[in-house]
Amino acid sequence: MARRRQIYEGKAKVLYEGPEPGTLIQYFKDDATAFNNRKHAVISGKGVLNNRISEYLMTRLNEMGVPTHFVRRLNMREQLVYEVEIIPIEVVVRNVAAGSFAKRFGTAEGTPLPRSIVEYYYKSDELGDPMITEEHITAFGWASPQDLDDIVALSLRINDYMSGLFLGIGVKLVDFKLEFGRLYNEQGDMRIVLADEVTPDSCRLWDVQSNERLDKDRFRHDLGMVSEAYREVARRLGILPEGELVELKPQAGKDARPFAPKKAGEPVKDSGASSA
Ligand code: C5P
Repeated sequence: MARRRQIYEGKAKVLYEGPEPGTLIQYFKDDATAFNNRKHAVISGKGVLNNRISEYLMTRLNEMGVPTHFVRRLNMREQLVYEVEIIPIEVVVRNVAAGSFAKRFGTAEGTPLPRSIVEYYYKSDELGDPMITEEHITAFGWASPQDLDDIVALSLRINDYMSGLFLGIGVKLVDFKLEFGRLYNEQGDMRIVLADEVTPDSCRLWDVQSNERLDKDRFRHDLGMVSEAYREVARRLGILPEGELVELKPQAGKDARPFAPKKAGEPVKDSGASSA
């Protein structure tokens, strides 16, 4: 078979030319990076889990009217997506103080915010993704005021929907990062769609009862059991049927459910403030 043309290689994903014009194949790697690439590891099975989790969340979001780049999952590590013009902004929505927010404002991790806060970062590895304002976005032409209105409205809808969805499975949606792109139809009309991925790599997810981290902070802060945490998220979402994902099965003798909710009153492990 002819080798596919690689379009782009990121830290955790690769994009290949898709089977039809206007499509791409998004491949999920097992690589994890943090602190602007200064920390790197390979977490066996992470790509398979993220492919599944992003498929699930993008499908649910599509169903409730949020346009996304997701078309369909192709196999264990790949999904077909629409080719979009990526807007070079990372949109972060926060419900609870954590990570760089907790550090910047000296707020204890876990403090609920008075309301959801939307932040923007400029996508640039060389600059370390600096925080930016709407003024920078519109002045530099990264997005028009109308694009930005759409982006904020979509981000808040995604937050409302996902907060409820995760709460229903005993998970607190602490914060998350989204990326958006411009999708053009044959007539040349443009609409803003959710792109990239929605996974425990891009969201902070805490067990409601124990505050146990079920996301990439386990890797960032050396908490261990990274793929087990991602697997627990997939299991709670109901997308890890018995007998599937054989390569991800817990090893014999190991606790199959290391993140089973703790009983009320049990001590809560806290990793302290972090910078992602
Ligand atoms: O590090 P910080 O607290 O700003 O991260 C906020 C949220 O955005 C976290 O859920 C983190 O996983 C996500 N994020 C990301 N990619 C980045 C920076 C942050 O997915 N480059």
